[in-house]
Amino acid sequence: MSTAKDLYSFDDLCKWSPSTSQLQPPARLSVFGDPVAHSRSPQMHNPALLDVGIDAQYVRLHIHPEELQPALQQLKEQNFIGTNLTIPHKAAAIEFMDDIDETARRIGAVNTVLVEDQKLIGFNSDGPGFSRAIREEFSVDLRDLRILIIGAGGGAGRAVAVQASMDHCERLVLANRTTQKAESLAAELAPFFKEDRIAGPMERLEAISMDEAALAAQMDNIDLIVNATSLGMKRSDPEVLSSHLIQPHQFIYDMVYSPSRTHLISQAENAGARAANGLSMLLHQGAISFEYWFNREAPLEAMRKGLKESFD
Ligand code: NAP
Repeated sequence: MSTAKDLYSFDDLCKWSPSTSQLQPPARLSVFGDPVAHSRSPQMHNPALLDVGIDAQYVRLHIHPEELQPALQQLKEQNFIGTNLTIPHKAAAIEFMDDIDETARRIGAVNTVLVEDQKLIGFNSDGPGFSRAIREEFSVDLRDLRILIIGAGGGAGRAVAVQASMDHCERLVLANRTTQKAESLAAELAPFFKEDRIAGPMERLEAISMDEAALAAQMDNIDLIVNATSLGMKRSDPEVLSSHLIQPHQFIYDMVYSPSRTHLISQAENAGARAANGLSMLLHQGAISFEYWFNREAPLEAMRKGLKESFD
């Protein structure tokens, strides 16, 4: 494999053959983002492509919001297999797809594009990746869990809330700093929660604020707590949750993966609860994107090793 540049631009994409003629294998997969330099997707996908002998490599493309539509069109011109989309393109891309799958439609965001017969097909692997990550980390399925999502009003929180609903989880509590966003998401997801599944006084679907009293009132009826806020990446961030609220029977999934041991994970472990960071979701969403592109199982261990090495 000849080494790709760390970052390509929209201008590079428009003249892809001359820009990348020296690359072997050819660059036919990418991630679009703004910013995108931090993306670890190349370190995860290139070992996978090599492992299964696919003659393509994966690069980062810095695409500004106003370049998104023409950049997506360029994928067809330049014989791409597909692309991933990250911030800020996931929701904006929906309207530029020729077709989208049900999960992407319900989440309202596309993170994986497949180019097929000159058409752009949009998928979302974040939600399904979360589902697989929870199974891997805690040996349990979403459908058997009472789940609290803190930060349900953001893009990632919405993806996991929709997935938990589509997987028919027992109970779902949506908490968000801006409570109104959690309320409107709950209204949208209500049709998934019509059936009575658990005995007891608690509603199967609730939207709450992020204040301590509201969170405390839920804790006896929650198995899995997900941090989907952007809190936890910086030492100076406020706590997502007070330590004394965490119960030993609970699973804590922090979608943040850098640092690997977040403050929330330390709090959970100190409380005797099981905890995991968001690296497994990153891995599984990548594996599912690979499956959409190649209609075959992803070489998960090659991807896991590449991702792990990217942090060393
Ligand atoms: P986003 O759309 O910007 O949403 C941010 C969320 O955090 C919103 O719910 C926001 O609440 C909340 N928030 C921000 N600052 C807050 C504060 N000071 N106090 C309380 N809540 C606060 O971001 P996103 O794309 O959903 O990403 C959220 C996190 O998930 C990031 O850390 C991201 O790296 C991570 N993530 C991980 C994966 C993975 O594969 N592991 C995938 C995607 C995202 P308001 O609605 O009130 O603003």
